[in-house]
Amino acid sequence: MIEIKGVHKSFGSLSVLEGIDLKVNSGEVVCLIGPSGSGKSTLLRCINGLETYDRGDILVSSERVDRQSKTIHEVRTQVAMVFQRFNLFPHRTALENVMEGPVYVKKENPQAAREQARALLEKVGLAHRMDAYPDELSGGQQQRVAIARALAMRPKAILFDEPTSALDPELVGEVLAVMRKLADEGMTMVVVTHEMGFAREVADKVCFLYGGRIIEEGPSREVLGTPKQARTQEFLRRLLNHSEVPA
Ligand code: ADP
Ligand code: MG
Repeated sequence: MIEIKGVHKSFGSLSVLEGIDLKVNSGEVVCLIGPSGSGKSTLLRCINGLETYDRGDILVSSERVDRQSKTIHEVRTQVAMVFQRFNLFPHRTALENVMEGPVYVKKENPQAAREQARALLEKVGLAHRMDAYPDELSGGQQQRVAIARALAMRPKAILFDEPTSALDPELVGEVLAVMRKLADEGMTMVVVTHEMGFAREVADKVCFLYGGRIIEEGPSREVLGTPKQARTQEFLRRLLNHSEVPA
């Protein structure tokens, strides 16, 4: 579904991705972990063409992701992205936010788009909040609207960039539960996260990024349970210690 081969990317003189190779099969969940600045967001942005890359290839369903190509819009509708900040339209209701893409980008019939949006909001547990505006919703609810909005484009894969990092701790679980449901249904997902419980239980594969390289990857239980690289061990130790700091 997604194939990344030897991808390099620099911002000016700053080398951010230094030869990334990664395969994500259909229905797989891959979690990307790693310290801040290791290139996780940049990699996701390259996969759906929000960012260019300098060398290598990124293929989505065998189609090369190339910001200059005429098919880039198609690639973008095939690969949805969910961000840390929900990026909902503030002046539109939850329902209107979910209808937006199908109606304005895909030119779908508004009535059909509305029906689909209702079903998707129901799926993410927001049947009772369809007519609420974003500022009337909690962060967790807003992020679930953002997930419904991503699904409305019927993507082949969804990329999540720290989807729960901006949430109050008590709201994290409801978003992870929705993501877990999507994974169970066979959605192909690449998830940047610091939620190690989610990664351990849901990911088929975990990749540890450090300095623009994947320096360790494998089944979640191995990478998180018995990491081989000293840097992975150190990262996981810090994460664990940090979460033990009392609030
Ligand atoms: P992560 O998501 O792992 O924290 P990022 O991919 O956001 O890492 O960033 C990797 C590096 O690239 C960082 O040093 C960051 O400052 C830099 N960077 C990211 N985006 C830009 C940009 N648009 N222009 C210049 N530098 C950037
Ligand atoms: Mg990031």
